[in-house]
Amino acid sequence: MGVQLTVAPAAAELGRSAMEGFGVGDEIAVIAVVALAIVMALGLAAGAVRVIRDTVRKQGRWGINLQPVRCPKCEAPAPTVRRPKNRRQALWGGCTCEECGTEYDKWGRLVADAVSPDAEPGAAADGGGV
Ligand SMILES: [Zn+2]
Repeated sequence: MGVQLTVAPAAAELGRSAMEGFGVGDEIAVIAVVALAIVMALGLAAGAVRVIRDTVRKQGRWGINLQPVRCPKCEAPAPTVRRPKNRRQALWGGCTCEECGTEYDKWGRLVADAVSPDAEPGAAADGGGV
């Protein structure tokens, strides 16, 4: 009996101090987790907003186009299995037409910077003159 009486309060004391220790650690951990969650949520929200915006307006890099696209020049359907020809295509979608070599994005729009620089010699000459 005497042993039990002395052990019980000691165990309770130990338990309480351990709880307090955990309490302080938990608070910091919770704050860290919440802060991380907020940062991640903001990042996800920003990404989601971009994806939704571009999907709705059917342009831009971030949207998702589930519709089949065709070459803007020769109307050849884009290959079902996309094989990216460059880094932009790998990152943002789009492909190069297998029929005529035209590069277009995932919305079936011509990619402007795919036009070779010597395609407009007049513009280049004008730039050199100035
Ligand atoms: Zn084509």
